[in-house]
Amino acid sequence: MANNNPAKRIALYGSTGSIGRQALEVISRHADKFDVTVLTAQHNDELLVKQALQYKPDIVVIGDEKKYARVKEALSGEMIKVFAGESALEETAALDVYDMMLAAIVGFAGLKPTIRAIEMGKPIALANKETLVVAGDLVMSKAVANVAPIIPVDSEHSAIFQCLIGESRNKIDKVILTASGGPFLGKKPNFLVNVKRDHALQHPNWKMGAKISVDSATLMNKGLEMIEAKWLFNLRPEQVVITIHPQSIIHSIVQFEDGSMKAQMGLPDMKLPIQYALAFPKRLPNDYPRYNFKKPNTLTFEEPDLKTFRNLPLASEALFKGGNLPCILNAANEIAVYAFLHNRIGFLEMTDLIEKTIQRVHFIEKPTLDDYFESDAEARNFAASLIKL
Ligand code: NAD
Ligand code: MG
Repeated sequence: MANNNPAKRIALYGSTGSIGRQALEVISRHADKFDVTVLTAQHNDELLVKQALQYKPDIVVIGDEKKYARVKEALSGEMIKVFAGESALEETAALDVYDMMLAAIVGFAGLKPTIRAIEMGKPIALANKETLVVAGDLVMSKAVANVAPIIPVDSEHSAIFQCLIGESRNKIDKVILTASGGPFLGKKPNFLVNVKRDHALQHPNWKMGAKISVDSATLMNKGLEMIEAKWLFNLRPEQVVITIHPQSIIHSIVQFEDGSMKAQMGLPDMKLPIQYALAFPKRLPNDYPRYNFKKPNTLTFEEPDLKTFRNLPLASEALFKGGNLPCILNAANEIAVYAFLHNRIGFLEMTDLIEKTIQRVHFIEKPTLDDYFESDAEARNFAASLIKL
């Protein structure tokens, strides 16, 4: 039967990353439904070129300008426009060549192109949680003003989003974000003090990019996700709670006024929330492995260890205090994580660095977008100065 629905044009920002590559797998399985029109990457020109030759987008953007000539040369036989540099990410987002942006850049760098897409009224499949952590108030109000839906890709937020379908008139009591606990669940500071990069990158349930893997090991990922949840679902800080669920089968839970809870479950595989966000409101069939109820299984829940994983109380403070504090926390965390990944500071020192930075950078209660950029820069500079000492 002829398919009368035109393919949805996808701008895939951060196509060479963990989310980006899994999104292309999803898109390949549903080639009649999706058409990749924009691909972007920061450094990995080889993979970007390979992806471009396979998916034939209209535009590719390589962030690292030194790689421009190589990408241009490699794609010279194709009808593909090649751009380079940070501003090209934003400029491309302003072009009417896509129907949905998958925001899968890691970190603060994802903010500007995502805002530009929202200003264009484009639906966003949002993996880049830092966008909402840094400037959730402005991003969400722009999304409302421009009628640009934001569909979460983060598995917990996708779960909450799915649980809320059909519940728009019902009050939420709280949302319970599940956390795997990461590779160091149950460990104490005397163990963590000696942890190195490679150990921290071994996540028990998920295979992810380096930054979010470290964030999962320190539990900062869950802290960032609390802030992300507050903005996505318009919650008060005290409505967002965390439970450690090491099996990562229940992806999150919504509890309503009547005490009834809805949870979304599945095997831990990011292709599921990616596919859900890309195809929303439809569900598409696939042949990914399913959870096996015939095997003896136990699903467990426990309280996070806030004394050992001190990033979580710091993120909670930012969630409750608001203003530019989450932006400062995020910037300090990015500096800390990259310093840890380069073996410049230890695992526990990441938290010290974040704590000192949020104490130092001045607080703004109602920041403008420019204030956020200034706070980000100030926090990065201060955090970096602590490493040099
Ligand atoms: P990754 O490091 O694997 O990939 C990041 C992508 O962003 C790459 O394509 C890279 O080229 C690009 N990039 C990096 N720095 C950039 C910059 N300065 N400017 C422009 N592009 C840049 O990261 P990931 O694990 O795919 O995560 C992407 C985002 O999705 C993060 O915000 C993360 O928190 C979120 N997320 C990831 C997962 C996961 O399973 N990986 C799950 C939930 C949420
Ligand atoms: Mg998550």
